Amino acid sequence: MSTLEAASSMTTKQDTAWQVCIHPDCRSTYGIDEILVGCPKCGNLLDIAYDWDRLEVPASLSEIEARWSTRRNPLDFSGVWRFRSLLPFAPEQSIVTIGEGQTILRQSSPVAKYAGLEESNLLLQYEGLNPSGSFKDNGMTAASTHARMAGAKYAACASTGNTSASLAIYSSAAQLFNALVFVGSGKISFGKLSQALDYGARTLQIAGDFDDALKQVREVCQREKIYLCNSVNPFRLEGQKTIMFRVLEALNWEPPDWIVVPGGNLGNSSSFGKAFLELKELGLIDRVPRLAVINAAGANTLTQLYNGQGLRWNDGRTDDAMIDSFFSQMDAENRRASTLATAIEINRPVNLKKCLRALEACNGVVRQVSDQEILDAKAQVGAGGFGCEPASAASVSGAKQLREEGIIAPSDKVVCILTGHQLKDPDATVTYHSSNAGNIDPKLADKGIDAVSFANSPVPVDNDLERILDVIRSL
Ligand SMILES: *Cc1c(COP(=O)(O)O)cnc(C)c1O
Ligand SMILES: [Zn+2]
Repeated sequence: MSTLEAASSMTTKQDTAWQVCIHPDCRSTYGIDEILVGCPKCGNLLDIAYDWDRLEVPASLSEIEARWSTRRNPLDFSGVWRFRSLLPFAPEQSIVTIGEGQTILRQSSPVAKYAGLEESNLLLQYEGLNPSGSFKDNGMTAASTHARMAGAKYAACASTGNTSASLAIYSSAAQLFNALVFVGSGKISFGKLSQALDYGARTLQIAGDFDDALKQVREVCQREKIYLCNSVNPFRLEGQKTIMFRVLEALNWEPPDWIVVPGGNLGNSSSFGKAFLELKELGLIDRVPRLAVINAAGANTLTQLYNGQGLRWNDGRTDDAMIDSFFSQMDAENRRASTLATAIEINRPVNLKKCLRALEACNGVVRQVSDQEILDAKAQVGAGGFGCEPASAASVSGAKQLREEGIIAPSDKVVCILTGHQLKDPDATVTYHSSNAGNIDPKLADKGIDAVSFANSPVPVDNDLERILDVIRSL
């Protein structure tokens, strides 16, 4: 495998976009085409920052709607790059797009009822409609664009499945770089693994979980100068900001009361916070929605740190000793994340600090939901018209919980992000619906599930017309 050399250019006065360390005592800046996944000086995460005064910012968000009329231009067709004036780090000729972000915000009365909200007040942002079937494409189009700007020939990621599917589709569709994906063995759903294989990504199954795979791929990328596409990559988060832009667009630029999102590596929640901070700074919105980040109870690092230990952003001076001792104890006790919502089965969320910033900016809350609650909510989402994978349903389950606690009011307008498509993990769906009170599928029982509230089991019947009619009449 050949290596690529990191383009190293220092920030110059003329640049309108650059990379900057998030730590207030560091704030080191780096050129936009440098390949970095953390601050070389202090190790903290990097942000993409812009000199908005010298950029063309829309006077109002509704101005962006004009791009609908020029959608034969692939950049205007893209649900990410239509908003490129709000993530202006790339020259237009470098942009890699495959038509991502054609997603919709949709009401679902049955899901609203389930969550205890007024019918028109629960909206599902259906990111499963992206080309690879998850929200990850919003970020991968931006990371691919940056990889192209930096001249990368190889790009890699560790993944619970969707990041690898997304990287693989961009690699195969754009033909600009080769994809190398690291997955934990036995931890990835078949739908997702099949995508990486079919799109031709070189796939390494590491004997370990996501956190192990990420540790390895970071090392490999550093040694071999390979472009890393995990959400430590700040460009990915720029693309993911557009999920919020599209939500606002669908609501005629009127912010909702709540955004509810599942939390894994916390890239999405981080990018949402950055989106709202920037829109506010630019005077494009006057109110920021509240943010709810929902963990699976079996992968609840954020919940433990935020709710249990009171960890906060603290103007960027987070209590790192608290974080370090949490993780040392996790390792000492050999506690590992375990949930059927594999997309959020994460021990060490890499964007933890940025998520704390988002929670601060958006008056946020953090909750955890059990696998049983997740799968029940998922069945309701499916029955309500749009299916999703287990991790996505954590958002609906979290909204229900916050409604029950009275933190979300019944009249609040709530947007739940459905992060991934139903067909990503058919195994989870079928085992749920095939279970019943006396007979829970071992894969579910193994995760502590002892009841399924909305199972829609297939009915076995003889290959005999009369029997079939008997069954139908008895339904
Ligand atoms: C990646 C992923 C998540 C977790 O998002 P983070 O940004 O890592 O918090 C949730 N749901 C699905 C379907 C995902 O693919
Ligand atoms: Zn730094």
